[in-house]
Amino acid sequence: MMTATCLVKILLIEDNLAEARLLKEFLKQAQTKDFSLVHVQRLRDGITELSQQKYDVILLDLTLPDSQGLSSLPLLINHAPSTPIVVLTNINDEELAIEAVRQGAQDYLVKRQVNPNTLVRSVQYAIARKQVLEQLRIVNKNLENTVEERTAELEKAQELYQFKSEFVSMLSHDIRNPLNTILLAAGLLQNNDEKLTQEKKLNHFKMIRSAIKNMAQLLDEVSLIGKADSGKLQSQVIPLDLEYFCNQILEDIHLTALEKHVTIEFSIDGDFDQTLWDENLIRHILENIVGNAIKYSHPHSQVKFALTQQEKTATFKIQDWGIGISEEDQQQLFLPFHRGDNAHHIAGTGMGLAIVKKCVDALNGEILVDSQIGVGTTLTVILPLIRK
Ligand code: ATP
Ligand code: MG
Repeated sequence: MMTATCLVKILLIEDNLAEARLLKEFLKQAQTKDFSLVHVQRLRDGITELSQQKYDVILLDLTLPDSQGLSSLPLLINHAPSTPIVVLTNINDEELAIEAVRQGAQDYLVKRQVNPNTLVRSVQYAIARKQVLEQLRIVNKNLENTVEERTAELEKAQELYQFKSEFVSMLSHDIRNPLNTILLAAGLLQNNDEKLTQEKKLNHFKMIRSAIKNMAQLLDEVSLIGKADSGKLQSQVIPLDLEYFCNQILEDIHLTALEKHVTIEFSIDGDFDQTLWDENLIRHILENIVGNAIKYSHPHSQVKFALTQQEKTATFKIQDWGIGISEEDQQQLFLPFHRGDNAHHIAGTGMGLAIVKKCVDALNGEILVDSQIGVGTTLTVILPLIRK
């Protein structure tokens, strides 16, 4: 901010020495303020000056040896956007001067008509006007930023709201199915106790148990996602025989594969002896991905599971030759309840990969998808190695 006592630094860009001398003389005579004036004769020198120090105002002649007319203006504004400019014009060039003001100069002075008073007044006016403009610009910018921030927050809140309501409706849908099964089977058992054979009864109990198991699993998965979202899903590593552990998971899943006549080929390359793993998170990752590979494979096909070791990472690559995932579905693959367009005839809730992603994130790893409809899918999980 300018005060009455501070020095006003003026840069005069004027090739006419007589004019320059006159202006200097006028400023000396001014009584309200102290002025310091640096005089250069070319635009080029003016720009150099501006890059070296800050000026309060520029007095600019519009006919310079290295720049004619208004072309000096944008160059100067570019170099010193917050420095006000007063243009100096000849008597019959007033139109040019007005155009200069339209293009960003703060004021103009007509040579020969200048006197000490008009010069000082114009300089002060230019500085004050530029300051107001500058403040307006800042207020405007702040306003723009605030509006942008608020809009982004609002969009995020709307997205979250929509996601939550979808989540709740999907969840209640997926809970209602097993609940209905339980209700139905329990009703049958209650009302037809005498008529039912032992085998039928057993069957109904089995259905009830399996429906309860499904519900419990779904609730576990939802709570795991909730934990991950609130940052509570942290990894707890222990020494683990990774090869044995992977074989165990394949063992648990092999009946499902057998039913579909899908063979699983497991290969391991590397030494994982001295490494630490989070058993729980790894189990979620592998069970879901290998489970999917089998589930979305065609009967009598193959699934390959290759575990390899790099210097700082372990790579789990699971490949199948099943129905594949479209590019569009790949974009949303890790969202809870998202199911592929081509997968609706196969049972599933769409929670598996959402959980996998949360587990991979909790382990600071990454997951890559490579898939083509009708060709097959490869999911690759890369996890950092933690050594003992
Ligand atoms: P679940 O919660 O029982 O795992 P889901 O298998 O449908 O249900 P995700 O495992 O999350 O859910 O998979 C999401 C979707 O991604 C699936 O519905 C399917 O469309 C697609 N998908 C996942 N893995 C494969 C795969 N190996 N081949 C083809 N499609 C796949
Ligand atoms: Mg799945």
